[in-house]
Amino acid sequence: MAQLTPVILVTGGTGLVGRAIQHAVASSGPFGRQTGDRWVFVSSSDCDLRDFDATHDLFDRVRPTHVVHLAARVGGLFANIASQADFLRDNIRINDAVLQNSHDFHVRRVPPQGAELARSLTRQVAKVVSCLSTCIFPTHPTYPLSEGQIHAGPPDPSNFEYAHAKRLVDVQNRAYREQYGDVFTAVIPTNVFGPGDNYNLDAAHVLPALMHKCYIAQRDGTRFVISGSGRPLRQFIYSRDLARLIVWALNSYTKVEPLILSPPENDEVSILDAALAVMTAMSYEGEYVQDTSKSDGQYRKPASNAKLVAELAKQGLEFEFTPFQEALQESVDWFVDNYHTDARI
Ligand code: NAP
Ligand code: GDP
Repeated sequence: MAQLTPVILVTGGTGLVGRAIQHAVASSGPFGRQTGDRWVFVSSSDCDLRDFDATHDLFDRVRPTHVVHLAARVGGLFANIASQADFLRDNIRINDAVLQNSHDFHVRRVPPQGAELARSLTRQVAKVVSCLSTCIFPTHPTYPLSEGQIHAGPPDPSNFEYAHAKRLVDVQNRAYREQYGDVFTAVIPTNVFGPGDNYNLDAAHVLPALMHKCYIAQRDGTRFVISGSGRPLRQFIYSRDLARLIVWALNSYTKVEPLILSPPENDEVSILDAALAVMTAMSYEGEYVQDTSKSDGQYRKPASNAKLVAELAKQGLEFEFTPFQEALQESVDWFVDNYHTDARI
């Protein structure tokens, strides 16, 4: 029987992380494209993944052998606080439609042959990498966060609903592995930023929001407003680093236990320092003010990348993270260059 071409479906392929994966697979190697892979990036205009039947039709059209599942209703602290029910329900529906259809369509990294093919028709095996987030960990964790703690207590009230929807992906992955042997797994990134982010001030995460607000302050000669006390700490990962690690996980990581993808845990940056770094990257010399009436959200959520480092080492690999200032400058330059042309700004 002829080998099938691996077809990798990327849901959320037009978002921050999806765009970074497009960038990653423009190169080959352990963190990039494998010979013969075909990558299909889809957005909500290709299919509303909340609709189970529409998702079935998408899978029928694409016939993926592998899925990177990024699509989600995503937002920063203030969007989560404003729309709890939507964050819960949209994400539950999206995740269920993608995982169940992945199961139904026998998504596989290596197409089965001969006797294995016959067996796979009754024992549906699949490979899906979904994306969780460090904001789903318990609100009173043991630091640093590690993979085993996901379900060890209620999540933070600031994103309680989103966190529960995301935790269910891990529950679903384990259930499908136990009942059917499906190779479903998940990665857990820390706060992501990079080119092609969501800069809508009502929905944005902190760095794209700060970039957008600083740009407007610079342009209009107004003050740059930083929400909250500026004291919380965040462990940021550059989207292009994250994308390369997700592609590696797709090719090489098969355990059901999720894998934290982050720079070292001591790479925390305070919100105020992040805002000052945005000002420097934009050459903004005006004033800034802090609006302490706004929520701080979680104080910190440093995560350990020890398991990632160990998994890479098993394959003789090391990963070099882009320094924060360099990645931020690239992201700011992208934002400024695309301010008048990109649909997401
Ligand atoms: P994003 O920039 O907001 O992009 C979201 C993507 O999902 C877009 O491609 C969007 O399509 C698609 N999408 C949303 N609703 C959909 C629907 N109903 N049907 C089909 N597609 C839909 O998000 P991101 O930051 O790249 O996040 C990607 C993944 O990383 C998510 O699972 C998120 O939870 C996780 N994550 C993100 C962060 C972060 O800081 N950004 C941190 C940790 C984890 P359109 O372009 O058509 O809207
Ligand atoms: P989180 O990491 O899930 O809490 O989400 P965010 O990326 O939205 O980061 C929220 C943190 O950044 C909180 O401490 C906010 O007070 C702070 N922050 C400061 N200015 C802004 C802003 O303009 N937008 C957002 N989303 N957060 C801001």
